[in-house]
Amino acid sequence: MKRILPLLSITSLLIGGNLFAANKIKVVSATEDPASITREIGGDRVEVTSIGKGYQDPHFIEPKPSFLLLLKNADLLEVVGLELEIGWLPPLLDQSRNNDIRPGQKGYLDLSLGVEILDRPSGTINRSMGDVHPLGNPHYWLDPANAVRMAIEITNKLTELRPSDGPFFAQRLQNFKVRMNDANKRWVAEMAPFRGAKIVTYHPSWPNFARHFGLDIAGTVEPKPGIPPSPSHTLEIINLIKQQHIKVIVMEPYFDRKTPDFIGEKTGAKVVVLYPSVAGKAGLDDYFKLFDYDLNELTKALK
Ligand SMILES: [Zn+2]
Repeated sequence: MKRILPLLSITSLLIGGNLFAANKIKVVSATEDPASITREIGGDRVEVTSIGKGYQDPHFIEPKPSFLLLLKNADLLEVVGLELEIGWLPPLLDQSRNNDIRPGQKGYLDLSLGVEILDRPSGTINRSMGDVHPLGNPHYWLDPANAVRMAIEITNKLTELRPSDGPFFAQRLQNFKVRMNDANKRWVAEMAPFRGAKIVTYHPSWPNFARHFGLDIAGTVEPKPGIPPSPSHTLEIINLIKQQHIKVIVMEPYFDRKTPDFIGEKTGAKVVVLYPSVAGKAGLDDYFKLFDYDLNELTKALK
């Protein structure tokens, strides 16, 4: 009897654990930012995994076999949309053979449909506009107002999938809105002295962010979205920074520092690495911590 007891308790733990896990809505997010907001809303009723990691360029995620299993078992797939994931997600989705999470199905949520999008192209779209961002700027999550809009979309979708938990999700959404409102007041106050400041960014990840905080993006190190720096464009940016006395070049952690550092040397502008996504580095565990960190780095550089 003494030998059986430990076995029994392990078995019951395993069964209990499995049952508990089975009750959770299994959410797979293309990137960390929707994942973070989904954890805020879903709490212990969801199990959220992000395919893209916060330190990776979301336009280019290297597919791994483990992603197929994640997608195969998912109840819900969240995408940023606007073709951010077009280079890597569609083949994974095809191979996962999970029809419930395909575009148009109940288990698919394109978050771009409920937020404010900037840089929407007018007229015909062609490759001369760059390699990415053909439908508008997909980095819209870097605006606290859009984070709230995403939270609302996520709440609606989780409620659709699990109506019995609707009041739970609604309560958590309310809580998220309050915390976001408080944090946003603090962030806006922190950035107030720098309203109207001009910056250069590596890639156009920051239009929503800049508009929210009243910054003016005067140019990008990339000649066009997704096109690597060229000598002639780099020279133009150097001249622009000198003429307009721009103090800061913002770059994402996954780009090569070579060109930004070169521009910095020629102009005296400071190169600042800002993280465009949650979990881009240790400690940036959620959307609030991401903005706390980025705004701290940015205000230090702009002073
Ligand atoms: Zn982009």
